[in-house]
Amino acid sequence: MGEVFTGNFTQQEKLPDAALAAADAVLRHGRLHRYNTVDGEIAETALLEEEFAASTGASYALAVASGGYALGCALRACGVKPGDPVLTNAFTLAPVPGAIAGVGAIPVFVGVTESLVIDMDDLAAKMGQAKILLLSHMRGHICDMDRLMRLCDGAGVTVIEDCAHTMGAAWNGCPTGRWGRMGCFSTQTYKHINSGEGGLLISDDAEAMARAVLLSGSYIMYGSHRAAPPPEAFADLRFEVPNVSGRMDNLRAAILRPQLKALKRQAGRWNDRYAKMTAGLADVPGLTLPVRPPKEQFVASSFQFLLLDWAAVDVAAVVTGCAARGVELKWFGAAEPVGFTSRYDSWRYAPGAVMPGTDRVLAGLLDMRLPLTFSLDDCAMIARIIRDVVHNVRGVT
Ligand SMILES: *Cc1c(COP(=O)(O)O)cnc(C)c1O
Repeated sequence: MGEVFTGNFTQQEKLPDAALAAADAVLRHGRLHRYNTVDGEIAETALLEEEFAASTGASYALAVASGGYALGCALRACGVKPGDPVLTNAFTLAPVPGAIAGVGAIPVFVGVTESLVIDMDDLAAKMGQAKILLLSHMRGHICDMDRLMRLCDGAGVTVIEDCAHTMGAAWNGCPTGRWGRMGCFSTQTYKHINSGEGGLLISDDAEAMARAVLLSGSYIMYGSHRAAPPPEAFADLRFEVPNVSGRMDNLRAAILRPQLKALKRQAGRWNDRYAKMTAGLADVPGLTLPVRPPKEQFVASSFQFLLLDWAAVDVAAVVTGCAARGVELKWFGAAEPVGFTSRYDSWRYAPGAVMPGTDRVLAGLLDMRLPLTFSLDDCAMIARIIRDVVHNVRGVT
């Protein structure tokens, strides 16, 4: 059978010692609520927001309970009302259309290309249908943001970015999350920094951010934030915006701050692993790697490849063959979703017409996690195994 990989695809690195020490300090003093501080103390949550704003260059940042909460909060802060249509990716993770449904709005799905980004032609065709685009940089693939913003600005469509897979990434030098009116990040365990659950929102728009701060459950304590708009921005809003509690606490913020400091270095390590995978699978007949343009400064925490126009039984054979040799692949074309849902036809609460171009891409799309617990040699071995299995399946049909 050849080589077998024995690593664990869901095991992230342990938290750095600085995170453990910071968590210990918070646990010992017990002031976990972000607004519970003693005289002269600055809450860990407020410090995290200040540091995250600085790291992205955004004017404002807000820490919240989850990435999904950040999405819903951004939609509300940008004025989305029940019944409003909201454009979004046909290929993303369930919390994205879920956030739209959560505010009573209606997802309008836009297709995906072979490069795994939003289909700009499909977007242009559907632009007239909504005032908001919730754009997901799914699996870290970033579309041509210059073109997307031209298109949306021209049509008066507000962009909110889902950056759950693009923390630390940029298009053409400008970080993701800074192109749209608001950018939403996740600090859930499988993302780039890990607090179990958690989310971050950034914006340069004072009114939208003041609304988000109030929505998150700031009561009248927003004055203690260090990356929020000035008090004037809240004056007219504070009795008008409902409290939809979803704050982050000081314990999570404390363990995230040291990880944020290390993000750049970690991003380099992720991309080294991605490069190993790409090199190992560069010229396999029948296998396509998504195009990554030079302007896309991605941070890879997962790896995707396409077996375009393969028969379903053959793709299934690749998945089984790889699994037998310890390589866990997700297949987005499987008849039944396994573990999570990522395609438009799994979200039947939303109206949807069949999207043949998108179906074609998803039918051949395979995906795997690339945790930093894998060494470069591990990645080279995984690539050899995939190459071998793809070759064998292709050879026998
Ligand atoms: C993880 C994820 C989110 C947010 O998820 P939470 O688990 O709520 O933090 C949003 N979009 C995508 C694409 C994701 O993978």
